[in-house]
Amino acid sequence: MGCVQGKYASTNSPSRGLDKLKQEHGYAAKRGEKEDGGVAGNGEKVVNRVGETVRSNDANGNVSQKHASKKIVGDDQVVDGWPKWLVDNVPFEVLSGLVPKSADSYDKLAKVGQGTYSNVYKARDKDTGKIVALKKVRFNTAEPESVKFMAREIMILQRLNHPNIISLEGLATSRMQYSLYLVFDFMQSDLSKIISRPGDRLTEPQIKCYMQQLLSGLEHCHEIGILHRDIKGSNLLIDSNGVLKIADFGLANIFNPKPKRPLTSRVVTLWYRAPELLLGSTDYGVGVDLWSAGCLLAEMFAGRPIMPGRTEVEQLHRIFKLCGSPSEEYWKKMKLPASFRPPQHYKPGYYEEFGDFPSSSFDLLTMLLNLDPSYRGTAASALQTEVSSKHHFIYLYI
Ligand code: ADP
Ligand code: MG
Repeated sequence: MGCVQGKYASTNSPSRGLDKLKQEHGYAAKRGEKEDGGVAGNGEKVVNRVGETVRSNDANGNVSQKHASKKIVGDDQVVDGWPKWLVDNVPFEVLSGLVPKSADSYDKLAKVGQGTYSNVYKARDKDTGKIVALKKVRFNTAEPESVKFMAREIMILQRLNHPNIISLEGLATSRMQYSLYLVFDFMQSDLSKIISRPGDRLTEPQIKCYMQQLLSGLEHCHEIGILHRDIKGSNLLIDSNGVLKIADFGLANIFNPKPKRPLTSRVVTLWYRAPELLLGSTDYGVGVDLWSAGCLLAEMFAGRPIMPGRTEVEQLHRIFKLCGSPSEEYWKKMKLPASFRPPQHYKPGYYEEFGDFPSSSFDLLTMLLNLDPSYRGTAASALQTEVSSKHHFIYLYI
């Protein structure tokens, strides 16, 4: 009893303009840009693409640069099958467990995606004929931070193992050029393309099915201490059977409660960004991903993003219009400066905004889109609700 979906429209992801806007307005720093954050245990700084400094010994798992035998091949050296320029620039642990492949062993068929930091190609493995996705990540050895950031994405992908999370199948490199490709199974579409198909609204069972899969994937990330920090439609890939997989761990982080260190609030694409991030919180948690999941649940019903703010200030106002103005307790509890208080008082607008949606989803929406992250619960608790229970876990046929 699967729900039949129409063919995919080849629409471009609407988030592309937002990514540009995000950079123009400084919502996401360009790679290598630095900000707050401490120094890792071994004194080495590791900075991600929004410039966040992370401990090399938590995110990188006690990084050590022990490399194996070097073999000279022609002009360029190969170390354990990897080009020397790569092993010289990433921790050994990043590559362990991965089979070195040459970029030449794939035929690029088409460019299928372009994010802020990468190009994604549909490609064929020349040996096996398998169709894969190659994510070419920008790699510039002159910018050590950009390299470490890329290494963290690979390491986080290697820690994850769940049917609703994209799995890293391998790494392909080009010996002469500094090109690095992450190899994934090819996925037909992504949730933002599916939502924006003209004249084709998702049905309630379809929405529930995608939501169940998104929450299951998030539950796994959070269980092993990973915050995704960029949940949005274009990062949720969908295969031809309707299986949803969370992708793009480029902004993800491993949260380490001890010792607590400040996290950057410059994460998550603006429309999906939780209020505590907009208000500058640096000790947030799983609630930021749950907020984004709530935005997506509402977006699937509405057929369009529900809070498309153009600036951080406008975004906050849209949030306050939906959730109501924060109470005195909220400011105290969140330990946030009062300077962000809205000039006018808003009553909660959930009924106006979500009144047309099926009543079974209303409770989950108001839970996930709560100003206070502690009321958003967890991915595991959201999975217990009517909307996303296993009962609705029927694959969609596309
Ligand atoms: P970025 O960090 O640049 O945003 P993503 O990993 O989000 O990179 O990939 C950008 C886009 O490429 C995605 O939104 C999606 O449309 C496409 N894409 C990524 N991975 C795959 C895949 N495995 N199969 C098919 N398309 C993909
Ligand atoms: Mg992306």
